[in-house]
Amino acid sequence: MNPSGVAFVDGRYCPVEEARIPVLDMAVTKGDSTYDVVHVWRGRFFRLDDHLDRFEASMKALRLDPGLDRAQIEDVLHGCVRRAGLQDAYVSMTCTRGRTAIPGSRDIRTARNGFYAYAVPFVWINTLEQQELGASLWISGRPRIAPESVDPAVKNYHWLDIQMAQFEAYDHDAQLVVLRDMSGGITEGAGYNVFAYVDDRWITPAHGVLKGVTRQTVIEILAEDGIPLEEGHLAEEALLRASEVMVTSTAGGIMPVTTVNGTPVNSGHPGPQTQHLRNRYWARHEDPRWSTPVR
Ligand SMILES: *Cc1c(COP(=O)(O)O)cnc(C)c1O
Repeated sequence: MNPSGVAFVDGRYCPVEEARIPVLDMAVTKGDSTYDVVHVWRGRFFRLDDHLDRFEASMKALRLDPGLDRAQIEDVLHGCVRRAGLQDAYVSMTCTRGRTAIPGSRDIRTARNGFYAYAVPFVWINTLEQQELGASLWISGRPRIAPESVDPAVKNYHWLDIQMAQFEAYDHDAQLVVLRDMSGGITEGAGYNVFAYVDDRWITPAHGVLKGVTRQTVIEILAEDGIPLEEGHLAEEALLRASEVMVTSTAGGIMPVTTVNGTPVNSGHPGPQTQHLRNRYWARHEDPRWSTPVR
């Protein structure tokens, strides 16, 4: 048992505090890697297959080969959680470019790719207390990197736009941040997707975003409940006059936003639809259609 977390690096498990990756790995020197994060709640993985599907698609898009097949990756994820002894966990997997075969060579075709994973205690982007009150969101003036340049549908650590936008949000006393695209449309934030209830329907951006598994879960719940949703363009103006706003992420689920750019959303309290969706989301975690026990 190692409740602070267990990692798998270079084919071996170790306490997460001891996990290291080489300084010459191009994940470090070039930001050249992809990753995915799944969670375990009360001893069960949530939508593990969907995360593995996305991770495989991301690696393919970046021409990365982790050297493990899907079943082996899955085994490692189970292994990290089991060895840590965690009931609620944040479980991350990363495939890195690695280093070129000949020292000093820049021929990235010769790189031997790396793989690591770890399980740590469940991460809340917003604490439960903040979720009861609702979070504050800042619309950054810094545009998101163009999707034609770095594909946001491939989960990546290419986060300098997001990190600097996050500082900007803190400078305005906001906890969360969202970035716009070059034409001013809302995209996403620091590891979360955005939903706004405007003119009798939910809107979530369709383009320039990572297709979050939490986002997908919300889309499915709304369809089941017959609540209208538009996957499309979310204008800044619409976000500013929405009656409910929420962000969605594996790290925390569905989190209500009660202030945008310093102005309260509606009454300034988490909205009834958001609360309902949160309950529906967490209820799915016990349902074998969406969750599988840790082995
Ligand atoms: C991971 C991530 C999300 C949320 O995706 P989930 O699958 O719901 O966790 C949204 N945006 C970005 C940039 C992300 O990295």
